[in-house]
Amino acid sequence: MMGFFLASRFLRPIRRISKTIDQINSEPQSDARIPALRTNDELSHLINEFNAMLDRIQRFIDQQTDFVGDVSHELRTPVAILEGHLNMLDRWGKEDPEVLDESIKASLQEVSRMKSLIQEMLDLTRADQVETQFVHAVTEVNEIVEQVTNDMQMIHPDFTITLENELDGPAWVQFYRNHMEQVLIILIDNAVKYSRDRKEIHVSVGSSDTTVDLAVQDFGEGIAPKNQDRVFNRFYRVDKARSREKGGNGLGLSIAKQLIDGYHGTINVESVPGSGSIFRIALPMLTPEQAAEFQRRHDADKPAPLNPDDLNKSNLA
Ligand code: ADP
Repeated sequence: MMGFFLASRFLRPIRRISKTIDQINSEPQSDARIPALRTNDELSHLINEFNAMLDRIQRFIDQQTDFVGDVSHELRTPVAILEGHLNMLDRWGKEDPEVLDESIKASLQEVSRMKSLIQEMLDLTRADQVETQFVHAVTEVNEIVEQVTNDMQMIHPDFTITLENELDGPAWVQFYRNHMEQVLIILIDNAVKYSRDRKEIHVSVGSSDTTVDLAVQDFGEGIAPKNQDRVFNRFYRVDKARSREKGGNGLGLSIAKQLIDGYHGTINVESVPGSGSIFRIALPMLTPEQAAEFQRRHDADKPAPLNPDDLNKSNLA
């Protein structure tokens, strides 16, 4: 009797776990969780971990659902514009060279907008994989900041883009080179897009004891305090029409943030409407020894180069 009583008492939480799993299996959208135990043992720890895992999965599913909703919403406008122009051409545009010309131009513009939107959405999804795929990527900051600043100056000759470099030697961070380039381009590109009369951009790079600090400052329209956190959200634009006119999709800063989060850095903005904005990034600095070790591991992670002889053999087979 005693044995039966004890066994049934110990099995009760396991039955609860099994019941919850059955419930979730039969209804995957269910928000069922295992009721917490009052004890403080391995089983209650397992239950807490299990519930936390379900919460994480649920958050991930919610994010994906939101993303699909946002994307459909964003694609609706260019598709509607394209449809409008094609309908117009179909009805009476074919004979009118002026309408024909205008509609084709407008349609091509929408197609190119959709193309950039799709590319940015892909970048955003890929930025998610940083933590697993670029664990040992390493970049020397001086070189890349100089290169991007020079490139951007060349593309925007009407702007004065200055670089203030306070680093007193090489500085390494865990960041895949192309990603670092992408982040800097997003920030400088925004600085250009949202500048007004004063066409000046200051890029600066320095360091603290543990971080490499980058900043991009413009003297443009600025961002109101209530919007400063929101600009990092997907598809958020302070002024949708204005951003659209400048070719923006509202994804640049969320790609930058996703990448920086993936490399354990931080990004934030200080801004005064009408005076300008300054975007600051802080990245954990690697010591030269860590950088060398990262580089060694990064090279080891890469697949071995193909041997041309093996290729020929497999072709023959
Ligand atoms: P977008 O492609 O629209 O520029 P982002 O994600 O890069 O998308 O930026 C989101 C929004 O944040 C922009 O639409 C703009 O309203 C605001 N923003 C971004 N950078 C700046 C800046 N340097 N100055 C003022 N507003 C900015």
